[in-house]
Amino acid sequence: MLRFIGKGVYPAVAIGRISVTKKSTAISQIQPSDKKTDNYSDELKRFEKAKETAVGQLKRIYEKAVSETGEEAAGIFDIHMMLIEDEDFNEAVLGMLEEGYNAEYSVANAGRIFSDSFAAMDDDYMKERSADIRDISDRILSCLSGNENSNEADGDNLIICADDLTPSETMSIDRSRVVAFVTAYGSANSHTAILARSMGIPAIIGMGEDFISQLSEGDSAVVDGETGELIIVPDEKTLEAFIKKQNRQKAEKALIEENRGKENITLDGRRIDIFANIGSIDNVKSAIENDAGGIGLFRSEFIYLDRDSYPSEEEQFNIYKKVLSMMENKKVVIRTLDIGADKNAEYFDIPKEENPALGLRAIRLCLARPEIFETQLRALFRASVYGNLAVMFPMISSENELIRVREICDKVKNQLKAENIPYDENTEIGIMVETPAAAVISDKLAKLCDFFSIGTNDLTQYTTACDRQNPYLDKYSDTENTAVLRLIEYTAKSAHENGIWVGICGELAADTSLTEKFINIGIDELSVTPSFILKVRDKVRRTKKEG
Ligand code: PEP
Ligand code: MG
Repeated sequence: MLRFIGKGVYPAVAIGRISVTKKSTAISQIQPSDKKTDNYSDELKRFEKAKETAVGQLKRIYEKAVSETGEEAAGIFDIHMMLIEDEDFNEAVLGMLEEGYNAEYSVANAGRIFSDSFAAMDDDYMKERSADIRDISDRILSCLSGNENSNEADGDNLIICADDLTPSETMSIDRSRVVAFVTAYGSANSHTAILARSMGIPAIIGMGEDFISQLSEGDSAVVDGETGELIIVPDEKTLEAFIKKQNRQKAEKALIEENRGKENITLDGRRIDIFANIGSIDNVKSAIENDAGGIGLFRSEFIYLDRDSYPSEEEQFNIYKKVLSMMENKKVVIRTLDIGADKNAEYFDIPKEENPALGLRAIRLCLARPEIFETQLRALFRASVYGNLAVMFPMISSENELIRVREICDKVKNQLKAENIPYDENTEIGIMVETPAAAVISDKLAKLCDFFSIGTNDLTQYTTACDRQNPYLDKYSDTENTAVLRLIEYTAKSAHENGIWVGICGELAADTSLTEKFINIGIDELSVTPSFILKVRDKVRRTKKEG
């Protein structure tokens, strides 16, 4: 029995047998032998034909990806089609063909040069393009060799193991035969990992480079995408434990599935909204599939991350408009930029801080840089006419801050009015209650906004003085924390005394051991990761309000 540990990408157990993916036409394996040819025009034709076939394949993969994972995740294949036609890449290939090299060598060499130069860049986004260049070069090579089939082994219950899987390889995985995949490399935010999550396939990445060499084709194995474990040839006791875990997961899923399509109503008839937390358009599909009644938290800062300049008003407008249209008039709460602390992008150039979690973060940064804030607000209010938008502000800690925020909202709306650009005057304005200060003055803040959403992740961090990034402090901030629960209770009371609704969007919202407590406190909405919606609904439907 061998045990490897990597990063779990999708938390489920899979049991099957190892299938090692080898790439016979990968660019790294093309040798410079036989590279010279005296037939330039034939080689050029072969290259053009291979490109055409590759684009045809990508179109089909794109369509499959759109229907299985949504347009946003499928976008990567659009990028691949563009990369195949990229002028610089094509010039490099043609240059080598003109020098008398054959098509295979020219494509492999151009692919290597471009992917190495992307890999050497500092920017994470550009680094990931390196894998895309390798992917398209491998695809053209495979078309040149006339081998258009995947190299998946025969049989069922396959656990695909590879150094790395490109997004198109991940998307081409035959779900009826493959139960999991494991890779030596890869990052949790790579497109491959994102695709695995949206396909719901147990997966582990980052196993380390010599893992493949220790595997034998056909060996029995277990993948635990929750803990990141891969067990090769498990002994009887281990296998039994994983079968039990898998059965437990299946039973839980089946039980929870029974709640699909049902209402979020307690035993005594009280309705609770159960909404979804999302970080990008990619997650909207999953929110809809999991029966979300709306979006309770769209962390808009993810639009600003993994890039090297600010997203424009137009770019943001299109994203917000799309989310609102996809949710078809269900409420969509978009939180304005919460950058700083653990979420940072270099181009913001935030001065170094001793305690960034207590620093120029979220609304503080937006108020210090009104041009960034106003651009986002313009995009949001412009999008408001396409659905049921609510705008929410993070890290509010005083009345003056909220008054200032409202003034800026009014200024932006007046500008739009003057420009004859439509917006919804009734767009709800709310705040995250995630600082102890906001909870303590929630009676005053409730008079200045339309709703509260309690951010228990930060509220716990700031109330208990425990850095949420520090794993050693978990025990101090457990869910029994009376101080946090009192602040939640007071915030709910302030909201209702002032006639506004109150929700919870931090991780505690999905903790079903607290659902009854939240219902008794009078919480109106719980916003959770899409895959937890049915589980929380199940709990709500089995709960009765006290008294
Ligand atoms: C929170 O703090 O509870 C919250 C939902 O916001 P984030 O986790 O994005 O800080
Ligand atoms: Mg927060």
